[in-house]
Amino acid sequence: MLLDSQPRIRLIGGETPLEPAERLSRMLGIPLCFKRDDLMSLGMGGNKVRSLEFWLGEALSRGCDTILVGGLPQSNLCRLTAAACAKAGLSCIIVHNAAQPAHGSVPQGNALLNRLMGVQTLYCGPVDEHRRMDFIRQQAASLGSLGKKPYIIGDPVTGALGYVAAALELCAQAGRLTLQVPLRHIFISASAGPTETGLLFGLCLTGGVTVHLVSVEYDEATFWSIADEIFAGLEQRLGIRPPLRPREIARFYGQYLGNGYGVPTPGALDAVRTLARAEGIFVETVYNAKVLHGLLDQAHQGALPPDEGVCFYHTGGTPALFGQAAQFMEEI
Ligand SMILES: *Cc1c(COP(=O)(O)O)cnc(C)c1O
Repeated sequence: MLLDSQPRIRLIGGETPLEPAERLSRMLGIPLCFKRDDLMSLGMGGNKVRSLEFWLGEALSRGCDTILVGGLPQSNLCRLTAAACAKAGLSCIIVHNAAQPAHGSVPQGNALLNRLMGVQTLYCGPVDEHRRMDFIRQQAASLGSLGKKPYIIGDPVTGALGYVAAALELCAQAGRLTLQVPLRHIFISASAGPTETGLLFGLCLTGGVTVHLVSVEYDEATFWSIADEIFAGLEQRLGIRPPLRPREIARFYGQYLGNGYGVPTPGALDAVRTLARAEGIFVETVYNAKVLHGLLDQAHQGALPPDEGVCFYHTGGTPALFGQAAQFMEEI
């Protein structure tokens, strides 16, 4: 169908669960369910696996043999790229924009998993994303001169294809879920763009759902300038113009971001505990805890009608929680 013409490898096997959150629903007075993209068999799961189906599909279709990926030491993207490369039999090089860790320091969370997978890891110092990409391009060029065929992970339109697929999967599942009411609201993080823009694209095709975008990184104008470009790229790539426009089906929240990307807020830390105690489910503090804080706060304010189904889209990243222990030290 829609995505059949796009190169893809299969990394997920089937659907991720869509399940009711019964105790939290009762506490909030709204019918709530969770889309569990934290539950996948590969590499402890997460949203990046859906994008990697298309990134690695593209890499293989171009005959590439060495995958380069950049991120911070606790990047979920780097961990899942390494895992997907292990499964696909590709070599993987991770570039962290951080200082080389001190000799003998103990890796935590995603850094530990990367170590266990034995991927080559380079450190380009504490520079911004643009300087990191310059460094990755230099590495790719020198691999090319050695006869390798490098592929750099990260094209946002290719990555977004995974979440066009996820939107269609979620709509099909919602029709089967016994929430008693139709699914009308989805809460998800607004960050670098591929995940939420792919989801918006799919839901602009189907209609009927409002996407609540909780910022974990950018202000609204910056976010939309990124998302609009990815959306237009998807229209071009797939040769289809959805009848709805993304802003018509979205609401953006900047008020749960706090002091910026990766900086925890008291509300987010509380949300981690609330979810753990109500449902026995865990979220990390960079992405999902801020989204959950937004959902809890909107529900408490009465902004979500009691007869409309709400979905919290869990994008994974849970191994990062083990690198975040110090954030919870005041009151665990
Ligand atoms: C990367 C990531 C996101 C954000 O996805 P984008 O497509 O970059 O917006 C959300 N949640 C988790 C756990 C992530 O690792």
